[in-house]
Amino acid sequence: MRALVVEKDDDGTRASVQDVDEARLPEGTVTVAVSHSTVNYKDGLCLGPGGGLVRTYPHVPGIDFAGVVEASEDDRYVPGDAVVLTGWRVGETRWGGYAEKARVDADMLVPLPDGMTARQAMAVGTAGLTAMLAIQAIEDRGIREGPVLVTGAAGGVGSVAVALLAAMGHPVAAVTGRPEQEGYLRDLGASQMVARADLADTVKRPLEAETWGGCVDAVGGAMLARVLGQMRYGASVAAVGLAGGAALPATVIPFLLRGVALLGIDSVMQPFDARVRAWRRIADVLPMDRLEAMIVPATLDDLPRLGADILQGQVRGRVVVEVA
Ligand code: NDP
Repeated sequence: MRALVVEKDDDGTRASVQDVDEARLPEGTVTVAVSHSTVNYKDGLCLGPGGGLVRTYPHVPGIDFAGVVEASEDDRYVPGDAVVLTGWRVGETRWGGYAEKARVDADMLVPLPDGMTARQAMAVGTAGLTAMLAIQAIEDRGIREGPVLVTGAAGGVGSVAVALLAAMGHPVAAVTGRPEQEGYLRDLGASQMVARADLADTVKRPLEAETWGGCVDAVGGAMLARVLGQMRYGASVAAVGLAGGAALPATVIPFLLRGVALLGIDSVMQPFDARVRAWRRIADVLPMDRLEAMIVPATLDDLPRLGADILQGQVRGRVVVEVA
């Protein structure tokens, strides 16, 4: 099988496309012929010198994939079934989707949602599933009056969150550091643009004007701290990522005086039922023409460059890798 393999020696890590013996695939009950994968922020880490959560080399990254079951020892799947995988540390601690074959346990898979192709499912991918989980979390606590803020809007999670929220009928304010992406974000459904620089300063006043009815935050850091003080009374922020840093230089005042909630989102260990529900809702809600507009097509050979780009915040929307 062709695979993008990351190797490590004393000089560092190196990624290259190679022919690999399928016998080297990890243990698992289902073998999938992979057609598509994507590039997420974590893939950038696993491809790079730091290695992300990779423990053993040689390694095949790719934290999500779509394809067709080739062989199964589990009653839930038969050869020919179309499936999707996100999470479960696939592509991090075990070989992932940047190969023509993958072997996983049946629990890690979900059926390809009705009405979606494998390519579209990967345009959603881990980033899009996470966007939906974040939206459901702020919905569960009640989205308040006012626009819903999406940070890191031109990135993967952000792009899908903007399109989903707009399709659900919410006014969406998109935060971006790339003003040239305004047309793209407005086409996805953003009704208001916020410059990254306007939220870049650290917190000077713990409470500012009540502005946002909810927030999907892919950036973290000083921006998240600032946003907490701008939430409307009782509104919530779903924290998804840390593209802007892991430290949170905030005060407790927005929690105490405005009942703001900070909700952590983890897509990696989502149980089967929650994953299937979220995928079905994405297929029902997300306009497929907007999803198509997010796609950056790529091949296995493009991955080393794209991995570096995503860590620099340079990728727009969702990279879909045509694996086979
Ligand atoms: P992307 O790189 O596609 O998007 C991140 C966006 O954040 C960039 O496009 C950019 O948007 C913005 N950004 C980047 N650097 C900075 C910075 N220094 N300061 C402010 N904004 C910045 O990544 P993803 O959307 O795939 O992932 C976003 C985050 O979510 C990552 O931290 C990732 O690990 C995490 N994640 C978490 C998941 C979970 O289960 N919790 C699942 C998936 C992702 P713009 O140019 O528009 O400003």
